[in-house]
Amino acid sequence: MSYDENNIFAKILRGEIPCKKIYEDDFVLSFFDINPQKKIHALVIPKGKYVDLDDFSVNASSVEIVGLLKGINKVAKKLEISVDTGKGYRALANISEHGGQEVPHLHFHLFGGEKVGKMVQ
Ligand code: 5GP
Repeated sequence: MSYDENNIFAKILRGEIPCKKIYEDDFVLSFFDINPQKKIHALVIPKGKYVDLDDFSVNASSVEIVGLLKGINKVAKKLEISVDTGKGYRALANISEHGGQEVPHLHFHLFGGEKVGKMVQ
């Protein structure tokens, strides 16, 4: 699947649509999900144009891959849900059709602020 420049997260990255920003650096943008499924529901997206985790794993540079993973940790710390707070959270990426991915720009969901329950329903 080729990258759709008009997907909603591409528009957020370009500043065409507002978001409730949590964190930003050279590699990631993080903002709150518009339809939160848990007390805390953040999204972390790479700044590069990657459709999903498979695309990212194959095509992103090592620097981008490290940047995304470190970005997730920075967001978790900022939201005070990281392991060192004693809380923790779930990081989840939906991938393509069977994974239930709706927005075709790679994103990790971070769920926390409460126990998030069973992994798959
Ligand atoms: P997916 O199903 O692709 O893994 O998740 C897409 C997520 O993006 C959903 O949880 C949905 O609520 C969120 N979302 C869709 N449109 C917007 C938007 O315009 N702003 C924000 N902040 N989140 C959105």
